[in-house]
Amino acid sequence: MVGGVVIGGASPIVVQSMTNTDTVDDLATSMQVAQLARAGSEIVRITVNTREAAAAVPRIRERLLKMNLSVPLVGDFHFNGHKLLEEVPDCATALDKLRINPGNVGKGKNRDDQFARLIEIACRHDKPVRIGVNWGSLDQALLARIMDENAKRAVPLDAIAIMREAMVASALESASKAEELGLGSDKIVLSCKVSGVQDLIAIYRDLAAQCEYALHLGLTEAGMGSKGIVASTAALAVLLQEGIGDTIRISLTPEPNGDRTREVIVAQEILQTMGLRAFTPLVAACPGCGRTTSTVFQELAQDIQCYVREQMPAWRVQRIGVENMTLAVMGCVVNGPGESKHANIGISLPGTGEIPVAPVYVDGERTITLKGENIAAEFRAIIGDYVARKYPQRIS
Ligand code: SF4
Repeated sequence: MVGGVVIGGASPIVVQSMTNTDTVDDLATSMQVAQLARAGSEIVRITVNTREAAAAVPRIRERLLKMNLSVPLVGDFHFNGHKLLEEVPDCATALDKLRINPGNVGKGKNRDDQFARLIEIACRHDKPVRIGVNWGSLDQALLARIMDENAKRAVPLDAIAIMREAMVASALESASKAEELGLGSDKIVLSCKVSGVQDLIAIYRDLAAQCEYALHLGLTEAGMGSKGIVASTAALAVLLQEGIGDTIRISLTPEPNGDRTREVIVAQEILQTMGLRAFTPLVAACPGCGRTTSTVFQELAQDIQCYVREQMPAWRVQRIGVENMTLAVMGCVVNGPGESKHANIGISLPGTGEIPVAPVYVDGERTITLKGENIAAEFRAIIGDYVARKYPQRIS
């Protein structure tokens, strides 16, 4: 349980995200946390790297409460987490979970002591901990030990297999130490992030086979734009399909001044298109082809997608089951009527040379035909009316 959100067991897979603001700027950080939470992030992680950042965490929590937002906050600690949490106990109180990286907890003889101090703080404050291994900061002492052991094998493993083995060992050994120090197994979440799709799949299969801890999935440094989305989806889809993973984060690099909420939307869309959860009505749209020579069809598809996203925060609180609604915006009569009939509401626009009318289908039945300049506004109104009729009002 992280804040009020359950991770693991039979609970729905949780979507999380991370801010990229300077945590010391509590106003900017709380605004971005709010933006991510409103987009649907069920947990938000923030960097806690300095004393000032640790001191800002309670102020961020306060600001969020004033905005009526109780989204769980995770503190991301590296190198000095033990010190920050000891020096600023209110930081630990304000957080719902601590993320620690076994490769960055400390070096040499300090490592065990600093790890123990972090776990002791988590136990004292009754906070869950994500033990987040990352191949960019893999525990070098552990890697050296595994390489030594490998050298003694009759048939030594190759470098990639060793790296994978070391990642899993780092997570499991740290989890087992945390349990010895008193942290309950239900308070531990593990992650082993790499940037290669095949590596991620192999590592998580191995990890899932060897433990019962809740698992946080994510491809680290996934990249920008379509590359980041495709790589994350390729890796996570395989694992989720196998029942591996309890919470996901999509590590997209935003465009300069880009929208951070993109990573939340992608995470939701992965889960929803796989049929694992429903967040927002899905809009099916054909790709268009030589039968659609104007941009009317693309504009309508975009307009409806935006309309649904804009309405969803209100619909979500007012209407039960609206997230399961399906819509179709199709370019011509070839597949338009068929696809529209499969959706709750569908529209089939006229292709080049077709009669300039757009039949609308509601629950599989052809209803009215739209034409003229106001098709988008009229179609939005049809969707709004349908939501009001079809999905019962939530009683608070
Ligand atoms: S539905 Fe029509 S416009 Fe859309 S891709 Fe198919 S043939 Fe082309």
